[in-house]
Amino acid sequence: MFPPQQIFQQAATHSNRGVLRALPRLLLLSRNFSSLMDINTGYSGMSSKGGVTLDELPKSHVFTDKLPPDPNVPTPQVADSNQRPKPGLVKNAAFTWIKPEETPDYELLAVSPAAFDSIGLKRGEEKEEGFGKLVSGNKIFEEHYPWAQCYGGYQFGHWAGQLGDGRAISLFESTNPSTGVRYEWQLKGAGTTPYSRFADGKAVLRSSIREFIVSEALHGLKIPTTRALSLTLLPKKKAQRETIESCAIVTRFAQSWLRVGTFDLPYSRNDRNLTRKLADYAIEEVYGGVKNLGGPREESDGGEPDGEPNRYELFYREVVRRNARTVAYWQAYGFMNGVLNTDNTSILGLSLDFGPFSFMDNFDPSFTPNHDDSSLRYSYRNQPTIIWWNMVRLGESLAELFGLGSLVDSPQYLSSGLQPSQVEPLTKRAESIIDRAGIEYKTTFISTYQTLMSQRLGFQTNKEIDMENHFTTALDLMEKLGLDFNHFFRRLADLPISHMGDEDSRVMAAEHFFNENSAVNMPGLAARDKLKEKEKAKKEIAEWLGKWRERLAEEDGGLDDERRQREMKKVNPRFLPKNWVLDELINRVQRNGERDILHKILDMSLRPFEDHWGPESEWAEEDRLCGDVPPQDAGMQCSCSS
Ligand code: AMP
Ligand code: MG
Repeated sequence: MFPPQQIFQQAATHSNRGVLRALPRLLLLSRNFSSLMDINTGYSGMSSKGGVTLDELPKSHVFTDKLPPDPNVPTPQVADSNQRPKPGLVKNAAFTWIKPEETPDYELLAVSPAAFDSIGLKRGEEKEEGFGKLVSGNKIFEEHYPWAQCYGGYQFGHWAGQLGDGRAISLFESTNPSTGVRYEWQLKGAGTTPYSRFADGKAVLRSSIREFIVSEALHGLKIPTTRALSLTLLPKKKAQRETIESCAIVTRFAQSWLRVGTFDLPYSRNDRNLTRKLADYAIEEVYGGVKNLGGPREESDGGEPDGEPNRYELFYREVVRRNARTVAYWQAYGFMNGVLNTDNTSILGLSLDFGPFSFMDNFDPSFTPNHDDSSLRYSYRNQPTIIWWNMVRLGESLAELFGLGSLVDSPQYLSSGLQPSQVEPLTKRAESIIDRAGIEYKTTFISTYQTLMSQRLGFQTNKEIDMENHFTTALDLMEKLGLDFNHFFRRLADLPISHMGDEDSRVMAAEHFFNENSAVNMPGLAARDKLKEKEKAKKEIAEWLGKWRERLAEEDGGLDDERRQREMKKVNPRFLPKNWVLDELINRVQRNGERDILHKILDMSLRPFEDHWGPESEWAEEDRLCGDVPPQDAGMQCSCSS
């Protein structure tokens, strides 16, 4: 089998170390990231933007047209005549035809207005019976038969074999008539599929609320992500987790649900035919053709390897760059996925599959939100390394396709496959491509991170030295003193720094940054020592503030508080759906039967940069939800059970 996994180990470890060690030191490239900002323009909060009805929405099923079905279920008719299929291995296929399980009792709990706008669906459509039936798994559009995708994956660094959509079922694709963007709709928690393995095909309300909110929250933060359209409770359907819980369905959508694991599986089976079909589908149908895959490599990315890059190399590098940007966003906003297995790593660089995710509370780079992640593989500080590890797995799967260069389309290769004499040059070329993609990954990651952190700190320009002088020092301070990562930036935005030329005022302002779990408030310190420690800590913060002020003053209008506050508030959220907020939300919806709170948290998640969301009577509650994490709930972890 070609190529052996080991040949890329060197590339993997080499580049992994690079990302970790060199982060603060690497030379930064001045790149224009305006195109990056276009990926996701976030939610404007404006009211309805038109849209069409569900029936009018143009629908398609390009995925099932272009890719091979499970040979055991060759047509929708066979799927219709079958009982629900038993779990088993599915070979030479990208999907299995399968309908959602019908559940007559359902309650539509919430829809995302921003998602309606993205899809081009008319607001109010959720009130139609057809909508409720569709998103609860009780209706399909007959011309578009649903399917579950087949993929594999590395879980916690180990090859896990075939996984696939064990409880997610794709309904159809729809194209927004105004933007032309096509999305694939999926119901998560809609019943068993051949990929359910030992599990029940269900999703519980608790984890569905989490996925619904965080998908839209990441969108609100302008972080590339899969989206959530609706949340539906199935009151009579129960699932056994740690206790017996109610089930639900999230309707989610994305331009593509292809993952690194989609390519892992045919590669592991030496199924070259399927690998190529999937790659061609991704290039043509997901990315819209080679023209959208970025140009030749820049010198700073390691220059061109021998010969022109073929479309598979361009595709690989585009996936690498997209993932590099997304992980830079996660690091800049303190978001942790918690389970970055290759089946949860998107070919479009979207944040994907939300289980035990979390936003950072007090800054701790070793924090993992995943209770079962004892080796800290998916901790905050490891995310850039792990995504690169996953990108190397994708490189292995595509190595033959991009290592062959222009020969990939030669009649001889197409008819007779790889010749023994081609193996060595191909391997060398593929290794070189992956190595150089590693450099591109690193530079893309760092320049995106630099841009975002500069914005978060209110700088108008990027300076290489800021990484060392301002970002790293801020993170060190947060870690040492136990300061809330998100509050740090938003509270900086609030400071009238132009009036804080003297040290005393900065020491006074420092008080603003502590919370009950900060180091200075930890139990065990005698009252007198506490006071002394606090004075010391405040001085350290004041010193950092002084340097920050000097840096701001270097720029034109840098000390114009009004302008800076306005700009900083556009990028520093006041609200994030932290784990403690989600926990409270789940309790209130599940135990108390509350519904309005779901809409409130969704609205705050979609417009996280506002000062207030509702009428003045709601401000006290909003302040609480944006405020300090209750001490007993800080650093909350979740298990994988969902
Ligand atoms: P995840 O941890 O959500 O990324 O899931 C890993 C794999 O397990 C995927 O193949 C899922 O479809 C599958 N899976 C997770 N939970 C369930 C469930 N309750 N029923 C069926 N399959 C599941
Ligand atoms: Mg998954």
